[in-house]
Amino acid sequence: MKFYSSDYILPISADPIKNGIIQVDSEGTIINIGTKEDFPTLDLQYYPGVIIPGFINAHCHLELSHMKSLCETGTGLIEFIGRVVSLRSFNQEVKEDAIAKRDIEMYEAGIQAVGDICNNLDTAATKKSSPIHYYSFIELFDLMQKHLTATTIENYKEVFKGQDESGSNKKSFVPHAPYSVTPELLEFINQANPDTKCISIHNQETPDETMLFKKGNGGFYKFYSSLGLSLEDFKPTGKTSIDYIIDKLKPHYRNLFVHNTLTNENNILNAHKWSDHVYWVSCPNANLYIENKLPDYQLFLKNNAKLCLGTDSIMSNWQLSIWEEVKTIKKYQSYVPLKELLEWSTINGAKALSYEDSLGTLDVGKKPGLVNLNLVWYGEQTDISESFPTRIN
Ligand SMILES: [Zn+2]
Repeated sequence: MKFYSSDYILPISADPIKNGIIQVDSEGTIINIGTKEDFPTLDLQYYPGVIIPGFINAHCHLELSHMKSLCETGTGLIEFIGRVVSLRSFNQEVKEDAIAKRDIEMYEAGIQAVGDICNNLDTAATKKSSPIHYYSFIELFDLMQKHLTATTIENYKEVFKGQDESGSNKKSFVPHAPYSVTPELLEFINQANPDTKCISIHNQETPDETMLFKKGNGGFYKFYSSLGLSLEDFKPTGKTSIDYIIDKLKPHYRNLFVHNTLTNENNILNAHKWSDHVYWVSCPNANLYIENKLPDYQLFLKNNAKLCLGTDSIMSNWQLSIWEEVKTIKKYQSYVPLKELLEWSTINGAKALSYEDSLGTLDVGKKPGLVNLNLVWYGEQTDISESFPTRIN
């Protein structure tokens, strides 16, 4: 048994506990939470600041770990995707070493579970032995080319087979983005996943996506033709991309919409009307890195949206730390309450990835990981700008 104390314990599921103590067994399962009156004479390990549950990173591309600093900031999404495509041949050992290093970086930054996008099997070995819970999203795209759909499916069945789902790991097939999948590929994804699955899709990340779906113009035509592909199979819908895609996804899945920098209030209302299981994943540092724009969080707060946080890949970020994502939101959109941000970074991500039974809050019986933040807790008035996370267990 171990007993950890801090100036405040923030269970997330309950009010902060002043001079709190948390008891965990040798496996990390929480046995009891209380104060000095409940645990009078014990060998306590004291951490100044607060103790919170481990973070959930709801969106990452671990397989891009070797690509740090290989794309300039502020160039926009289409330029970024072009860069990812052009840089995909690297020595296997270099890739796997970088993946193992980033996995450790995330764990040390207090991250307990990761929703990880997979286009190949480079990450499989690391995930199998990692202490992090990985939900692998096997991400299909046929670049809206019907003649590529069948081979895409065959290739990705192999990726699915090779990604781990033993222990705490899980996996599902998911679509990349509305602008890169045919309806036929979406149909396969819907049929291949059992009803309990989580689905992740990149959403409304660049104005070109809206232009393509609404009017059939914008930068994607040029991008596709630079790859030697035409968009003749695609007909503009007169709708935004999310309004188009929700008709083709299943509302009873847990659906994670990722990025949402261009999402408007109607999009949020329509998605909420469509399903009770919509999660909006925000990756603020990646949004600043790629498009230099953040989502309008006021719209999400106003409509009681379930938000969670992701780091995206190290190719579009400066580090893989959910606490750094929280700090970025507090820096640029400081109206977002800290209480909300703590939920976005823990329990909401746990629910989005279906780990809420064991992760996301400090509750007896859970094994959520414990993280210390070196800050002075004043509730909403707390200054988090110079704090950083330290993993306790
Ligand atoms: Zn992504």
